[in-house]
Amino acid sequence: MKVAVIGGGWAGIAAAVELTAAGVDTTLFEAGRHPGGRARAVELDGRRLDNGQHILLGAYRETLGMMRQVGADPERLLERRPLQVHDHAGFHLALPPWPAPLNVAWGLLTARGAGWREKLATAWWMEGVKRRRFRLEEDLSVAQWLDAAGQTGALRRNLWEPLCLAALNIPAERASAQIFANVLRDSLGSSRRSDTDLLLPRTDLSQLFPEPASHWLRDNGATLRFGTRVSSLSANVDGIVIDGETYDSGIIATAPQHAKKLWPALACNFDYEPIVTVYLQFEAKTRLAFPLQKQSGKYGQWVVDRGDGLLACVLSGHGDWEALNDSELATALQAELALSSTATWQKVIRERRATFACRPGIARPDFMTADPRVILAGDYTWADYPATLEGAVRSGRRAAHTLLLKR
Ligand SMILES: Cc1cc2nc3c(=O)[nH]c(=O)nc-3n(C[C@H](O)[C@H](O)[C@H](O)COP(=O)(O)OP(=O)(O)OC[C@H]3O[C@@H](n4cnc5c(N)ncnc54)[C@H](O)[C@@H]3O)c2cc1C
Repeated sequence: MKVAVIGGGWAGIAAAVELTAAGVDTTLFEAGRHPGGRARAVELDGRRLDNGQHILLGAYRETLGMMRQVGADPERLLERRPLQVHDHAGFHLALPPWPAPLNVAWGLLTARGAGWREKLATAWWMEGVKRRRFRLEEDLSVAQWLDAAGQTGALRRNLWEPLCLAALNIPAERASAQIFANVLRDSLGSSRRSDTDLLLPRTDLSQLFPEPASHWLRDNGATLRFGTRVSSLSANVDGIVIDGETYDSGIIATAPQHAKKLWPALACNFDYEPIVTVYLQFEAKTRLAFPLQKQSGKYGQWVVDRGDGLLACVLSGHGDWEALNDSELATALQAELALSSTATWQKVIRERRATFACRPGIARPDFMTADPRVILAGDYTWADYPATLEGAVRSGRRAAHTLLLKR
């Protein structure tokens, strides 16, 4: 079987690895010169950083499995920490390194910055959500879901809303409660403690998976065509024709707006949400109390300590910050951080179409097309999750398995 995978993001790479491991003659097309798509390293003023700060969860089981398969050791490349949510305004929640669900219950009940009554009500509400297996009767916004549950206090402001923004990349008022519940089910709601952990990259994103996977693919006989944008895809009795070359099957693993150009019948019409990452370099000894900190000012949302004084502030979803230019935004975030030193270097990276807008009731396309030889992959096709690395990897593996079953 000869298969073409179009798109060398995490979904396309996962599909190519799965096919190659099964002995399929695989060609991976990637428009960019380097693989990784929306999660890759970039050169910025001579530094190798990420096109956007990413955070992984212990629940990303298939991503971690894929990393291991291509020889990228997650224990070495990712710093594993029990979840903490901590800000300057006095909110603090830390999960102890105990078995789940005891760790989550303890973390919640000992959180600082919320009253006892609220904490007990939240623990009770979470138990109910768990009993209903994280299924909602109908999808509504996260804000409506929290309102209906009486979650209107400090835990909403300091935990649920910031987690929703970080996970779904859209504010609670516009976010799908069902998809948020799915994320909670597999992370804080999991019975495996390791699923509740945060995983913070110790290297750049390309070294986590795209680069080791590319080496693995080459070593195992796959053909990699980087710097090659596919411009036409058609199907005939002989197979799938991609820019004049015939394959038995094809996997379209691009972002949805690009997939539609190759496969116009694709039924999806998403809106998109941006993410901006603001890198600020302080003196090398600068450290955050915890490597991921919630911000509580007008603009800041989350800040990640990248080590050696480099901080990455991440702002998710449409918001007031979009009215500021790069230098205004960097200055505002620096003021909110209120550190004793001043940044000596700064860089702002705006990803305008970072993720599809994960709204209530959002229709996600089927990963099968009308032609059984053409399969879709990509974060947007993994209907259970918002746009995440894990959704991308799972979708890529599913696309490969679907073709392998047909052999
Ligand atoms: C700034 C930012 C921060 C994020 N933070 C997180 C996070 O913390 N945690 C998390 O889990 N997720 C995060 N995400 C989401 C995550 O990055 C994406 O869900 C994931 O990378 C999507 O992978 P993909 O393979 O589906 O698509 P993409 O990464 O978009 O890959 C598609 C690839 O297809 C290529 N392509 C397009 N058209 C063609 C063509 N015609 N021919 C050949 N190649 C083509 C593109 O160049 C691209 O490389 C973040 C995203 C961004 C942008």
